[in-house]
Amino acid sequence: MKWVNHEIVTGVIVYGATGDLLSTAFAMAGAIFPDKVEGRPGAKYWSWRARHRGWSHWPVIYIAILAVMQMGLLPQGADVEKGAAFICIGALLHIAEDALCGKVPFLFPWQKVGIKLFTVGSVTEYVFSMAAVLLTYIIHAQLMLK
Ligand SMILES: [Zn+2]
Repeated sequence: MKWVNHEIVTGVIVYGATGDLLSTAFAMAGAIFPDKVEGRPGAKYWSWRARHRGWSHWPVIYIAILAVMQMGLLPQGADVEKGAAFICIGALLHIAEDALCGKVPFLFPWQKVGIKLFTVGSVTEYVFSMAAVLLTYIIHAQLMLK
């Protein structure tokens, strides 16, 4: 998925769920984190490609950070915790979004799973992203009515 769609889908889902702009901003930073740490393809395209969607896209890392935070083992402080938690949530949403257009690691970094609903950068990807935004809006509106 393109970064712009990662940002939009993740931002809308997190804002819909929390209604909090700061949490949304952290999640949107997390939404490109797994790709950002892989670096740019540049001249070494094939070596980048081999590492693409590797350990940085392994959900267990982000779930483990959230679990460790739940246990109170990391530095305390409302904003620091919120920031770290929502960066992890954004990264997890990124991985879930990538799993819809290719394969990502699951239980082990070398065991990749996913379904290819669309090709990255295709019209279908943008239609899918718009549908995700609309669905989030509809669910949010339904919950607000109750
Ligand atoms: Zn990715």
